[in-house]
Amino acid sequence: MNSDLQKRMFADLEDKRALGRAVDLAYRYIDETPGRRAFPDNGALTTANESSSTLPERGADAAEIIEQLSSQFSNACVNAIGGRYFGFVTGGVLPVTLAARWLTDVWDQNAPLFRTSPAAAIAEEKCEAWLKDLLGLPEETVAGFVSGSSLAIYSGLAAARWRLLEREGWDLNAKGLAGAPRLRVVAGRQAHGTVVKAVTLLGLGTDNIEWVDVDECGRIKADEVPDLDDKTILLLQAGNVNGGAFDDFGALCAKAKDAGSWTHVDGAFGLWAAATKNYAHLTAGMEDAASWSCDAHKTLNTPYDCGIVFCRDSEAIQSALHQGGSYLETGAGRDGMYMTPELSRRARAFDVWAALAYLGREGVDALVSLLCARTMQFAEEISAAGFELAAPPSFNQLMFACDSDEETQRVLRAVQEGGEAWAAGADWFGRRIIRISVCSWATTEEDVTRSVNAFVAARRSK
Ligand SMILES: *Cc1c(COP(=O)(O)O)cnc(C)c1O
Repeated sequence: MNSDLQKRMFADLEDKRALGRAVDLAYRYIDETPGRRAFPDNGALTTANESSSTLPERGADAAEIIEQLSSQFSNACVNAIGGRYFGFVTGGVLPVTLAARWLTDVWDQNAPLFRTSPAAAIAEEKCEAWLKDLLGLPEETVAGFVSGSSLAIYSGLAAARWRLLEREGWDLNAKGLAGAPRLRVVAGRQAHGTVVKAVTLLGLGTDNIEWVDVDECGRIKADEVPDLDDKTILLLQAGNVNGGAFDDFGALCAKAKDAGSWTHVDGAFGLWAAATKNYAHLTAGMEDAASWSCDAHKTLNTPYDCGIVFCRDSEAIQSALHQGGSYLETGAGRDGMYMTPELSRRARAFDVWAALAYLGREGVDALVSLLCARTMQFAEEISAAGFELAAPPSFNQLMFACDSDEETQRVLRAVQEGGEAWAAGADWFGRRIIRISVCSWATTEEDVTRSVNAFVAARRSK
């Protein structure tokens, strides 16, 4: 006998009312995108906040729940699928990847092992091969599909730590870090917070970071990098989170490799430059690094969450992230869990596969180039309007400011509250700046001009 709960759920699958309602509401959300504020107003946040904080004793009809979900929360969303949300580095979503996500969510695949999902394992294999080719990474490179760059960086550095200690004759997995040979960490002062977090999570210690000064764009000063050796992890970045600048891989990666150091490249959004004709020079030389990380949910515009770690030393990453368990039937095909810290994982390679298959090599170039072109348009229009660029714009990132920090902050807040566009602020060499990340395929020339106009109007209004 099926329980009442089972009966309800079999009926949900049979009549598909909730699924149908979700599709209708999703279509409505899409159609309302042009008129939606970039960031919700207070009224919408109040509605979301006023939803009950008490867990209901009894549930409700599935279609009704979908209705409630939409009415209580959809208006409190940032307009990430619109063209004028420039906060952080928040990628948009390609329609094809959204459709892929809907379809494959129905499959509900768990991706750790070939045995948990042959489909996911094979999709990961295909994506790994495509991405290595697209980004020009060495043939021996393996890829792990994780939630984002935070975990991708962690995974790359875990592999680095394992390998450098193994070369010293230290079995890290067995002995731990206590008493281990000391590893050095060299990083530019503009290393991303998630890189620093990975250093702390891995017990390498921020006090051990040898910080290297950066130039006015945030690039590590290559001639100030200390002597490297075979106990050193060198942390470089392809794309500064504020200004978009790329470190000089040509000057550093091969040198580090010759010294026996391990270089990790944080390329959360910038690694994709390697897939273009016009921006590939920014990543020249990075193929001599040992590991790399990037996000598909940023520049490639797949849904969240979707990051990728690449590692040329497959033994190191698999040893660092190894896990056992007699119930885990391994070896039947690709077992992706050996390249990721998690066991259970959503099968995000399907999203990547759909994006790459849809765009093709040309389309990836066109998408990345589009983001860069809109950024340059933004830079030209905003500086023509009298705002000062804090550094030359690079790739898809732009920083500008008003005459004083107070004025910059006031204008930023006014634009954020106005709803026409949304950007975040940051501190740049002691100065308050407004940062723009053009990271969605949906940003049009008109969106850029409208956003620039919003900043101009905010500056005029006092
Ligand atoms: C976004 C970003 C990260 C962190 O990526 P998540 O996907 O948010 O974990 C790391 N480095 C840079 C340069 C970034 O832009």
